[in-house]
Amino acid sequence: MSLKQRDKKHIWHPLTQHKLHPETIAITKAKGCILFDEDGNEYIDAIASWYTCMYGHCNPYITQKVSSQMQVLDQVVFSGFTHEPAVKLSEALIDILPENQNKLFFSDNGSTSVEIGIKMALQYHFNRGEKRKVLIAFEDSFHGDTFGAMSVSGLSIYNGPFEDFFLEVKRIPTPSGENHDIILNQLEELVSKHEIAGFVYEPLVQGAAAMKMHNAEGLNEILNFCKIHQIITVADEVMTGFGKTGRSFASDHIENKPDIICLSKALTGGLLPMAITSCSQNIYDAFYSDDMSKGLFHGHTYSANPLSCTAALAGIELLNSDDIQDCIKRIITSHQQFGEHIKNHPKVASIRQTGIIFALDLNIEMERYGDLRDKLFQFFMKNGIFLRPLGNTIYIQAPYVISEEQLQKVYQVIEDALEIV
Ligand SMILES: *Cc1c(COP(=O)(O)O)cnc(C)c1O
Repeated sequence: MSLKQRDKKHIWHPLTQHKLHPETIAITKAKGCILFDEDGNEYIDAIASWYTCMYGHCNPYITQKVSSQMQVLDQVVFSGFTHEPAVKLSEALIDILPENQNKLFFSDNGSTSVEIGIKMALQYHFNRGEKRKVLIAFEDSFHGDTFGAMSVSGLSIYNGPFEDFFLEVKRIPTPSGENHDIILNQLEELVSKHEIAGFVYEPLVQGAAAMKMHNAEGLNEILNFCKIHQIITVADEVMTGFGKTGRSFASDHIENKPDIICLSKALTGGLLPMAITSCSQNIYDAFYSDDMSKGLFHGHTYSANPLSCTAALAGIELLNSDDIQDCIKRIITSHQQFGEHIKNHPKVASIRQTGIIFALDLNIEMERYGDLRDKLFQFFMKNGIFLRPLGNTIYIQAPYVISEEQLQKVYQVIEDALEIV
């Protein structure tokens, strides 16, 4: 029996309605940008396995570092203990994070990094004797699948059963470049009516909203407003972090820096799960006390796992290398050229790009996971490209190490796909 047949017996997949989508593809090997399946097919991983393996699958530098670490220290409790991989990673990460970031809190995935960011924002006020309970978030945002993260997610299409249990969240539109006054008026009204604790946002690009992009100056004004009103700002850089926007973090493009930053996905280059919530000294100080109960009582068993830390440290070394920086520049230019080429195609409604993130909207109405979207997905896979269209949006977020030849193949297959819709 094949793996995909055996899979059906016991496995429940994420984000899957098994009755409608019973088929899985069994991947047996991955190298660089290529995924290999059990039937002998190869696919270019043009979304870097959900934006994680930016330095390529099974990157030899990262795997070698992790296999050496594995011989020395595998896992130890991170309450009351520390270790070299975590310390080295903290130094390397603080070095590249926006300058106001000074402390790192470890967890396992993007959702928990946001959950912790929310708890930091809520407890920050609580510890200072202020009862602030309401959060602000963007429309169409996505921050993960745990309760706090679901609460701030505007894209809660499938969250119906849980909505009664959410935190209280008020929504504002993303800045378009034309609606700043509307947003600022809305914020004024919100602070006059509610005790606002924090603002949680995906800076510049909203991934799950199909790579929706917004205006940096407008975001800067929102952050400025939050600063004035002591609203703690939580940047969810789970997707945008580590070079995707052309700089290390999306927050690097914006003058006002967030109080808290959530990181995961490309943090470990796709090798191991890990997340970090970083914060400024000011946030940390609100928890620093002789009073035990003012501490942040949150912890995961595998917090700062030494192997994950080693992978993350190796990833940051790669990100900082000339090789990877050159790749990023090359991809940005190639995307721009492809954008120019495709934007006037009769089936294309619009294109957009931030750094190495490229998206194209078809001028056809499509359901987020409907039949036409499935047909597009099948077309890409049959042509050896793993892309995951969302509704009528096709987007690319390929590993930095994708070759120019592979990238051109991705563009060509997208162009061919326009003929079948
Ligand atoms: C993927 C993602 C998350 C959730 O991360 P998980 O590791 O899947 O829990 C949160 N925020 C953003 C912006 C993401 O892209």
